[in-house]
Amino acid sequence: MAWWSRTGGLQTESKKSVPKGIWAKCERCSTTIYDGDLDTNLRVCKSCGHHFRMPTDGRIEMIIDPGVWQEHDTTLESADPLGFRVDGKRYSDSIKSAAKKVGPGDAYRAGTSAIGGIPVEVGFFVFEFMGGSMGSVVGEKIARQFERALASRRPAIVFSASGGARMQEGVLSLMQMAKTSAARSRLREAHVPYISVLLHPTTGGVAASIAMLGDIIIAEPDALIGFAGPRVIEQTIRQQLPPGFQRSEFLLEHGMVDMVVPRGDLRATLERSLRWFAGAPGESGHAAAGSNGVGTDPAPGANGTGHA
Ligand SMILES: [Zn+2]
Repeated sequence: MAWWSRTGGLQTESKKSVPKGIWAKCERCSTTIYDGDLDTNLRVCKSCGHHFRMPTDGRIEMIIDPGVWQEHDTTLESADPLGFRVDGKRYSDSIKSAAKKVGPGDAYRAGTSAIGGIPVEVGFFVFEFMGGSMGSVVGEKIARQFERALASRRPAIVFSASGGARMQEGVLSLMQMAKTSAARSRLREAHVPYISVLLHPTTGGVAASIAMLGDIIIAEPDALIGFAGPRVIEQTIRQQLPPGFQRSEFLLEHGMVDMVVPRGDLRATLERSLRWFAGAPGESGHAAAGSNGVGTDPAPGANGTGHA
């Protein structure tokens, strides 16, 4: 009798499915974690330190000073210049259903805010919205964020989590790499700091432009960061890639990122970096910070004198 026909007497452990939204399983150490506990621990596994993906809402809440959030450009919408369809589904319909599920504003949210009382122009890729892909709306929102930073001399911060350029917009999405990079270079000329935070995953055209252009580049642990996927590279160079390739720690070792910072320390690290910029010789942050705060509750130290 063939082995596959003898399944009748075989006793297997019945597969218990994990109810969605109550329990989560760590993909690194396989520990089952109560979702509420995961939330209180900033969606980091207590057993092994694995960083689960954090929803953008939670991310914003975790980073900024409570209640200091003036969001911009929420009504920008992508046109569908190519009349793009994939599997019969129109691109414009994909945008509509993503907006319905995730919220308006495409795959990027930007706001005037403060971190530790220091005013900032901060933006977040929304990975939940079509994989955080950068189309013309995302590019425009980043460019506007940098323009506000330039005009107000507030430091700019971008949290990247993206699959890259949005293929449904063809060459227009590729042009966002040049557009955002040009806006970023104007900040550099004016000595306005820009901090880039790389989350899992930061790939494609976003990694190849705005994400890797920070004055300081910070990555969360074990984030996938790179332009092309490992398989494409292996096939091209016909060599096996080293272990840990394209992960935060590998990039730190090879000088591509400045710091790998666990999620729990991210806010404090940003605050320290912002204070360093504000107090660094030759920076005009001294005068600018504190005079243009938003919200109603500027925290102590908002005058940016660099006393950490
Ligand atoms: Zn784990």
